[in-house]
Amino acid sequence: MSRVAVVGAGIAGVVCARALADAGHQVRIYEKSRGTGGRMATRRGDAGTFDHGAQYFTARDPRFQSLIRHLETKGVLAPYRGRIAQWSAGVLKPVADREPRYVGLPGMPALCRALAEGVEIVHEQQVAAVEQLQGRWSVLGAAGRDDGYDALVLAVPAVQALPLSVVVPGIAARVAQGRHHPCWALLVKFAAPLPVDFDAAFIEGAHLGWIMRDSSKPGREPGERWVLHATADWSRENLELDAGAVAPLLIEALRVVVPAVPPVIEARAHRWRYALSPGLGVGSLFDRDARFGACGDWCADGRVEGAWLSGVDLAAKLLPAL
Ligand SMILES: Cc1cc2nc3c(=O)[nH]c(=O)nc-3n(C[C@H](O)[C@H](O)[C@H](O)COP(=O)(O)OP(=O)(O)OC[C@H]3O[C@@H](n4cnc5c(N)ncnc54)[C@H](O)[C@@H]3O)c2cc1C
Repeated sequence: MSRVAVVGAGIAGVVCARALADAGHQVRIYEKSRGTGGRMATRRGDAGTFDHGAQYFTARDPRFQSLIRHLETKGVLAPYRGRIAQWSAGVLKPVADREPRYVGLPGMPALCRALAEGVEIVHEQQVAAVEQLQGRWSVLGAAGRDDGYDALVLAVPAVQALPLSVVVPGIAARVAQGRHHPCWALLVKFAAPLPVDFDAAFIEGAHLGWIMRDSSKPGREPGERWVLHATADWSRENLELDAGAVAPLLIEALRVVVPAVPPVIEARAHRWRYALSPGLGVGSLFDRDARFGACGDWCADGRVEGAWLSGVDLAAKLLPAL
């Protein structure tokens, strides 16, 4: 049995840890936030709950599809059956594709929580550095250092992986190529239904990329709660604004799509510095001699499924080396 440290409790880190633990290894995940799920996140507040990161996910790989079917029977997730439209410079059309989309129950983190069952996660533990001495890895954070790991996995966005990966220059050089676009999200509760005949829409040409009635997802409480995602370009240009300044700007952007926006009860903006990634298409990165690897959506393809595949890929590379 080997000891493995995983940094990051998003879907990539959790699935990698799960595979290693299922093979009999002792795995500990370090996660800087209070929750499990990373960008598959739900925020609860006075206005209710909002999935403010990943909105839904698709499943194209047969292995992921089979996991989805299994977790659906366990009530961890469900298909999304809302009406999805495409709005492009004033023209509204229904989205024609019939690709199944899924959401976690009661929120997006459910998938990661289910996969992490039985795996040790140390929350609120930001890893500041990792180092290898005589073949053993140490993890250094605010709470001190943990020694004695046989292998180390980075499962965090590329920009956050870079300072941790410098100890293995071959990996760091590839990590440096990873990219993420930013995204400002607005979580807004309206006093009355938005006068539209869709539940979610891809938007083109109004500073917004996506809008979704959160309560149109299965298992959510009723209410006119919407999540608006600004485009990557708009988010980049306005990245350093205060959240309070972003909210009215994105409501104005929404008025371009829906002129009669009802009164707002509450609107809170959330800045994702590292949101969607174009993906490097390499699965995962692994140095067998160092027993050091990196995974995440940015390695594979910038979606939930891409992150899952990346974690699976890294576990398959790491297991024979343990
Ligand atoms: C606004 C938005 C909308 C999206 N919409 C969709 C969508 O509709 N469909 C879809 O498929 N995908 C979507 N995505 C992308 C999807 O969420 C990601 O591809 C996927 O969740 C990435 O998982 P991951 O495990 O690679 O990384 P993450 O989920 O980012 O997990 C990394 C974890 O590492 C932690 N961490 C970082 N640094 C440290 C450190 N130093 N020490 C300890 N912990 C650390 C973070 O807190 C985080 O929990 C969206 C993302 C965003 C932000």
